[in-house]
Amino acid sequence: MIPLIITMDLEVAEDHDLNAQDAILLRLKKDLNAENLPLTIFTTATAAEAFPVRLKSLQDAGHEIGSHGLNHSPEENYKTATAEHIKMWLSESTKRISNITEKKLLSFRGPGMSTSVTAQQHLIKMGYQTDLSVCSQRADFMLTAGGELGWLFSPRNTYQPSTYSALKKGNQPIKVIPMRTFGIPFISGSLYIFGLTLMKLYFCLLLLESKRCNKPIVYLFHSYEHTPHNIGKDNRPLRQKLYTKDHEKKYRKNLDFLKFMTSFSNVKAMRAIDYINN
Ligand SMILES: [Zn+2]
Repeated sequence: MIPLIITMDLEVAEDHDLNAQDAILLRLKKDLNAENLPLTIFTTATAAEAFPVRLKSLQDAGHEIGSHGLNHSPEENYKTATAEHIKMWLSESTKRISNITEKKLLSFRGPGMSTSVTAQQHLIKMGYQTDLSVCSQRADFMLTAGGELGWLFSPRNTYQPSTYSALKKGNQPIKVIPMRTFGIPFISGSLYIFGLTLMKLYFCLLLLESKRCNKPIVYLFHSYEHTPHNIGKDNRPLRQKLYTKDHEKKYRKNLDFLKFMTSFSNVKAMRAIDYINN
């Protein structure tokens, strides 16, 4: 059985309609539950506080809530910040998110996929069990805040990181579940650029590798992608301007892709924490 971990990053997108960002969580909950698709949701503390009712109801519906840090500001980078800042952000965000969820947080993904030895050591102290920040063999690493050359050489399967590098195997008591890619990130952004057919082929390629080497597949999308932009200047980065602006189209496409991935009898969608515990 190949584990498929469907992850959703939940952050407040200032350039998208705020009410729609709240409402889309309800729609996602309905559609995902109808298809029996469990999510691992990485929320920032500010998003948890902006959408507390929706977040709690997603958790009550069986989805896992993990941490995506404090507020996703450009400074909040767990790869480059000082140890003092990293510890402060992790402690504060964990406290604020679990105030909403009333549950212990076990899974982490840094904003901009950023992580480090310092971050992982503090996560371990706080009881986190898994870090989903590393994107092994992602070729466009320079376009992501947490990206680094080391991603090209980091393990493709789940590993315990070392005490000297978050990207190398060791015996730290936390599991890194890498985003597996063959150069192109396996995320919804690629789906919107390359289309459903090519992404289906990409998934089959990852599946083939998973079958041979017993690796989980991790997919990522953001909830705000499915909401309208605020009227005004389009401040999206160049790469995102390649996507269609039609948020409804993106929603349908993403849902169709999730259904496709779970249509295989040997693929089992599960939350990050269930994968770790099994
Ligand atoms: Zn993010």
